[in-house]
Amino acid sequence: MSSTTEGTAVELQVPVLYPTQPAAVRLMNTIWADRAAVHDSLESVAHLQAWAEEAGLGRHQGLGEHDLARARALRDALRRLAAEVTGDSRPHSVSEGLSSEAALAVLNEFVSHCAPVLRHGPQGGYVREWLTDGSGLQRELNLIALDGSEVLTRQAPHELKACGGPGCVLYFVRDHPRREWCSAGCGNRARVARHYRRSRSSDEGPATGRGADH
Ligand SMILES: [Zn+2]
Repeated sequence: MSSTTEGTAVELQVPVLYPTQPAAVRLMNTIWADRAAVHDSLESVAHLQAWAEEAGLGRHQGLGEHDLARARALRDALRRLAAEVTGDSRPHSVSEGLSSEAALAVLNEFVSHCAPVLRHGPQGGYVREWLTDGSGLQRELNLIALDGSEVLTRQAPHELKACGGPGCVLYFVRDHPRREWCSAGCGNRARVARHYRRSRSSDEGPATGRGADH
């Protein structure tokens, strides 16, 4: 997964899942799973740097443990609140030991660094933009928190959903009202699992003895 050449080149596998999703959802999805295990794309400062670049947040040099702690804190808060609003009970999907009240306080602390500002629009009129203090990656995280506050309050048909795919721990914003899975792959796995369950229960039918006397 990673290799180091004389301490300089570090190649990291940090998938950026579903780049068309809002930035807050992409940060939530830095916790992801495959058949082997649940993975964390923000497990080190180097991972954070690589993820930020892949996710289009720019190249940020000189990141440290503080940046990593902030990014992880925001990610965990977003996932905790996402679990609440989506009624998500999947194993591994909720940040352990983080109450929704504590998560809300974390999110609001990030959002408090953003303030609306009205500017002249390019073709007359006015446009509302957001000012944020901080610089570099911290500024990006403040804006992701703002994005998260919007995503978490979305209503149907474009609301936030927890993926129903077997073993999946991802979230997504619906682009059509009946979407239940983050990807076609998860949809296929869910259909296969359902088919397997059905065929098993029909195989087991006679063994229950129900109606066997007639
Ligand atoms: Zn999925």
